[in-house]
Amino acid sequence: MSDTFDSLYEEIIRDHYKNPQHKRPLDSIPFVQNPSCGDKVRVSISLGPDGKITETAFDGSGCSISMSSADVLAELLEGKTLAEAKEMVHLFLAVLRGERDVAELDKLGDAMAFKGVARLPVRLKCAALSWRAALEQLEKLTEEA
Ligand code: ZN
Repeated sequence: MSDTFDSLYEEIIRDHYKNPQHKRPLDSIPFVQNPSCGDKVRVSISLGPDGKITETAFDGSGCSISMSSADVLAELLEGKTLAEAKEMVHLFLAVLRGERDVAELDKLGDAMAFKGVARLPVRLKCAALSWRAALEQLEKLTEEA
């Protein structure tokens, strides 16, 4: 990976961390925690009558990787169906587990900025946290649908 790409990715991550578009106070949803870094995050997903996600929001505190990853996730899921959203979350988590090539992150909007993080074992849990939280909510919504 070239330095140009590295700094582009860093810029995307920094922007989502400093100016999150989808962060707001949530309640009645349990936090998912990452004890190794102290990150905690919860994700709220709202479905419209057409079965597409109308709003995704997150709440929490933690390092720049965990918080920016949550904002990227929220942005990505809006407008998707439950099935599409779950497929994207599974793909992101599979890349972090090393089961899929990092190039697949190109399909996931700003999540491509986490290509570098996918090579840093200590930050994987930070990046995965909100996606795991989202998956729990998506499974719940699927059961209710
Ligand atoms: Zn972290």
